[in-house]
Amino acid sequence: MQSTHLSPSTLLYEGKAKQLFLTNDPQVLWVHYKDDATAFNGQKFDRLLGKGVLNNLISAQIFNDLADFGIPSHFINRVSDTEQLVSRVEIIPLEVVVRNVVAGSLAKRIGWAEGRRLQEPIVEFYYKNDDLGDPLLTENHIELLELATTHEITDLREQALKINDFLTKRFDKVDLQLIDFKLEFGRQSNGSLILADEISPDTCRLWDRKTNEKMDKDRFRRNLGGLVEAYQEVWNRLDKGKDA
Ligand code: ADP
Ligand code: MG
Repeated sequence: MQSTHLSPSTLLYEGKAKQLFLTNDPQVLWVHYKDDATAFNGQKFDRLLGKGVLNNLISAQIFNDLADFGIPSHFINRVSDTEQLVSRVEIIPLEVVVRNVVAGSLAKRIGWAEGRRLQEPIVEFYYKNDDLGDPLLTENHIELLELATTHEITDLREQALKINDFLTKRFDKVDLQLIDFKLEFGRQSNGSLILADEISPDTCRLWDRKTNEKMDKDRFRRNLGGLVEAYQEVWNRLDKGKDA
């Protein structure tokens, strides 16, 4: 953790898992990771003591690892157990999903069994819009809604696949299979697109390599229990495997 001359001021936005505060630097936001968990567009809710601390740790570690690998993100540094500083960006309202193994909504959409490995990773785009229930979008829809240009869609896809290559190996080294995950990107003042939001077991599906045990937010969605214990185990493994 680093000391900072910055401090949080006005609450800018409160989402389902995090709060964003303005700071004395207009380019920098103060993010607080909450213990709240929601699923099915907010219909299911719980407070899971310790989740915020773990997601803050895990997200910070992954953003640091990605930076070392040459992939920049909005992440600046962790400032407390549950808080981190990030660069303020204009979030593109798209959830960029990368899938390596069939799970969740893809199993339902195409009728393949959960757990079936895809020959190549696939990228999907969902509209980040709670009122519409975050629908799947085609590239034509994205252009129609003017959420991103053709060129930007290519950039998002390329960045997402590069992140997938890195994360798949990073998790594999600690005996976790990266099944799928969701990314958000933001537009910087110079127009370029940069990785933002969070990368944690809330936003990734992670299965234990040997047992296929779910170590992610599906423990909450599917009432499996033991979510905080699973996130703690993900953190322990990532922390131990840091310099591997
Ligand atoms: P949500 O309920 O929308 O998923 P979260 O609780 O995950 O919200 O809170 C994070 C919110 O902040 C998200 O809407 C996300 O798009 C936005 N966000 C993440 N990183 C940044 C950033 N660097 N600048 C501005 N907004 C951000
Ligand atoms: Mg979110």
